Amino acid sequence: MTIKKTIDFILTLIFPIECLGCNKEDIYLCDECLAKIKIYDQPPVFEHPLTHLNGIIYATDYKQKLLQQIIHNFKFRYIKELAEPLAKILAEFWTNYINSVETRNCASLQNDKPIIIPVPLNKKRLLERGFNQAELIAKIFASQFNYPLFSNAIIRSKNTPHQVGLNKKERLTNVKNSFAITDPELIKDRIVILIDDVVTTGSTLEEIAKTLKQAGAKDAWGLTVAKD
Ligand SMILES: [Zn+2]
Repeated sequence: MTIKKTIDFILTLIFPIECLGCNKEDIYLCDECLAKIKIYDQPPVFEHPLTHLNGIIYATDYKQKLLQQIIHNFKFRYIKELAEPLAKILAEFWTNYINSVETRNCASLQNDKPIIIPVPLNKKRLLERGFNQAELIAKIFASQFNYPLFSNAIIRSKNTPHQVGLNKKERLTNVKNSFAITDPELIKDRIVILIDDVVTTGSTLEEIAKTLKQAGAKDAWGLTVAKD
């Protein structure tokens, strides 16, 4: 047994793996519980004046208790495996959404090769968590639709403090000029879909969209699993 496997084994003795919904053993979320999460056909329009983003689209309502538990365990108990059900939710939503009557006329969304970029995490939080939760979701999502994934196309150029507890205006100031594009050629004239787990005010997505468009991206959309 490798050291990592030994540690994993000990951890499962202390924290046994069980479904967050029904306590079934050996799985973090069973298919039956996953199916209980309500996914929007058409999410309510994101009410925030967007200047740079073409829109923010989200798959579910964060008010659902089980969904909150999944996201909490994923981000704060570092259970990486939960990226999979979250990506499944996003993919199921997206399949319906891009084929819906409402979006069939949107040329930007009907583009067959948008590029996928996860919202980057700052270095400090990446070290704490060991993974970028948005990147894990984006990876599974992109491969399902054969969309190109550019995980490192955008970086945080400064460490922004936590957004929790700040109002909309403070959040926007907080994230101002905190992103940079690593290789503008990757995104030039492309339609970019930014992936994150949860959207709150949209300030981070909006700031990234500004940076993307200044660097030559054609369109920029935010796509998240839930809206808080
Ligand atoms: Zn279950």
